Amino acid sequence: MDRATTAVENAPTDLASPDDLRQDFGADPTAVRESDHYTDEYISGFVDKWDELIDWKRRYESEGSFFVDLLKAHNVKSVLDVATGTGFHSVRLVEEHFDTTSADGSPKMLAKAFDNGRTYGGHILRVVHADWRWLNRDVHEKYDAVICLGNSFTHLFSERDRRKALAEFYAALKHDGILILDQRNYDSMLDNGFSSKHTYYYCGEEVSAEPEHIDDGLARFRYSFPDGSEYHLNMFPLRKNYTRRLLREVGFQRVETYGDFQETFVDDDPDFLVHVAEKN
Ligand code: SAM
Repeated sequence: MDRATTAVENAPTDLASPDDLRQDFGADPTAVRESDHYTDEYISGFVDKWDELIDWKRRYESEGSFFVDLLKAHNVKSVLDVATGTGFHSVRLVEEHFDTTSADGSPKMLAKAFDNGRTYGGHILRVVHADWRWLNRDVHEKYDAVICLGNSFTHLFSERDRRKALAEFYAALKHDGILILDQRNYDSMLDNGFSSKHTYYYCGEEVSAEPEHIDDGLARFRYSFPDGSEYHLNMFPLRKNYTRRLLREVGFQRVETYGDFQETFVDDDPDFLVHVAEKN
């Protein structure tokens, strides 16, 4: 499937079926360390609540024009958003007139993104259902930029999957393309243990995200909402230099890392890191 909207047309329209209301991590949640589990974690209840509470306007304000400026500075015209989620960045890029294709491995996310595109500005997103590890099977164009944002790459649990996904992103780029990939700053969590600093509050104190378990192979976060409901995500804690090394090893020539959108930073300080990897 290439530059088509058929994934959304075929996606389930009843987004809140009973199966979608509870996450299932089994008897031992900290044993769930699989790259394939993400489609079960982003259930509709969680996604809808998140989108309802973390309103897009606030997100726009906190992020500013960082990504748009970065893309323009690299003369980017076409973008493949490989972790579309509910469509926040895709919609932003369409509004800024980038030729944008929105991919994700979760049909539910794509359906939600498609709806959000219509809601926020009447945009018809061009969506593709694709898992990163087999991206080039479903995406046949080449892009000036691939973006993988919102701490998404952390969903891959084996190095083999991470290398495969990065190789697929690399192949989807034109010869001078760039990959922009962000992640939480896991180093300080791994090195210094839990601290209050690692509870992240959104919408004032209404929504919180805090690590419930962390070891070298798992960061399990709990997301708590004002109505008392809780959801979890199991993620792989990527160390900054490990991600940078992988990017170089799959062939990217130059990797620049920003901390909380700044070029210079003290390693422990930022909550988020953004890697910009140049193909040539
Ligand atoms: N970028 C969006 C944002 O910032 O709001 C969404 C981020 S959400 C944390 C992560 C997204 O990555 C989910 O939509 C999930 O379905 C997708 N994802 C995780 N692993 C994937 C994989 N192996 N292939 C394709 N998509 C994947």
